[in-house]
Amino acid sequence: ATKTKVHNYSAGPCILPREVFEKAAQAVLDFEGSGLSILEISHRSKPFEAVMAKAQSLVKELLGAPDNYQVVFLGGGASLGFHMVPLNYMKLGGKSAYANTGEWATRAVKESKLVGDTIVVASSEDKNFSYIPKGYAIPSDADYFHFTSNNTIFGTQYRQLPKSPVPLICDMSSDIFSRPVNVADFALIYGGAQKNMGPAGATMYLFDPERLGHTGRKLSPMLDLKNHGAKESMYNTPPVFAVYVSMLTMEWMKSVGGVVEMERRNAAKAKLLYDAIDRLPLFKGTTAAEDRSVMNATFVMSDAALEPAFDVMWKEAGISGIRGHRSVGGYRASMYNALPIDSVQVLVDVMEEFAKKHG
Ligand code: PMP
Repeated sequence: ATKTKVHNYSAGPCILPREVFEKAAQAVLDFEGSGLSILEISHRSKPFEAVMAKAQSLVKELLGAPDNYQVVFLGGGASLGFHMVPLNYMKLGGKSAYANTGEWATRAVKESKLVGDTIVVASSEDKNFSYIPKGYAIPSDADYFHFTSNNTIFGTQYRQLPKSPVPLICDMSSDIFSRPVNVADFALIYGGAQKNMGPAGATMYLFDPERLGHTGRKLSPMLDLKNHGAKESMYNTPPVFAVYVSMLTMEWMKSVGGVVEMERRNAAKAKLLYDAIDRLPLFKGTTAAEDRSVMNATFVMSDAALEPAFDVMWKEAGISGIRGHRSVGGYRASMYNALPIDSVQVLVDVMEEFAKKHG
C-alpha cells in the first residue's frame, strides 16, 4: 500500500505530473504497444526518432521560438553548459559579460574565466545573493551577456528579463516553461531538465544556429553546439529515457494551457505562500520582495530555536523537501509547475497552526 500523499517541495529533481509518471512507467514495460521497453529500443529506431522530434518541436512550440532555432538534449547537466557557453560563444581573444546572482551563476563565471576574459558586470554577492542587481551597464564589445533567470538556491528571480546590447545567454534551469519569454531575444537558452521540463539526465539547449561557429576556436564535436544541432541531437546516443519523459511532461504542459497557464498557476501558488510568510511574524522571507522567485521561496524563522518543533509539524503533514540549502539555511519551498496549489495550502495551514501555538 502507498503511504499518505506526499507534498513534494524538492528543489530538483522534483515533482512531475502524476500522469507523466504513469505513462513513463507504462513505456518502461511496453513502449507504444511495440512489445519493447523504451529502455531497450535503439535511439536510431523510427519510434525514438519521433520522440526526439516531438520533444524538440514541443520546446519550440511551448516557448514560441523562431522557426530557425534548434533544440538539442545533451548529457553533462547545466554544469557542462557553463563550460560550453564560453567555448561556443566567446571569440578567441574576445570577452564575455556575466551577472553573478548566486551559486550557479558563480560557477558559470568560473568556467568562463577558464576560457577567456570574463567581466562580472553585476553581482549581488554583497548581500548573500538576496536580490537581483539592477541598473548596470553591459559592455557593447562583449561577445555575450550571461545571466541566471532564477536562482534556485537563494530564491530570487528576474521578474523582468534584462535587455542587452550583445547576444543574451540564459541559464533557465529552474524557471524554464514557468512563464512566456521572447526567445528571439536570446542567442541561447539552456537548462537541466530536472525541474519544470522532466527528469534528471538531459540538458536542453535552445539556440539560434546562426550565432554559432564564429569564435575561431576548434572544438571537440562533443562540445560543439553547432555539431549537435546539425546532427539533430543524435551525434551520439542521447539520454533516451530523459528525453522521453521530458516529452511527456511538455505534452502535459501543452494540454493544460502551456506556459501562460503555468504562469497563472505559479503566481497563485507563490502569492499563497509569500502572503503567509509576510502575515505571520514567526516567518521571514530572505530575499528582496520585488525579486522573489515564484519557483523557490526561501524563508527563515524569526526564532531559530523553534525550527525543530516546526520540522516535526510539517513532516507530520506529509510535506517533504523544504529544508533550505546549506548556504542559506532555514527553508526553501520549491513550487515547480507540477506542484499542485493544494500542496501549498497544506504548508500554509501548517504555518498558521504553528504560529497559533508558538506565536
Ligand atoms: N543552474 C541552475 C539555476 C540550477 O538550479 C542548477 C542545479 N540545481 C544548475 C545550474 C546545475 O545543474 P546540473 O546539476 O544539471 O549540472
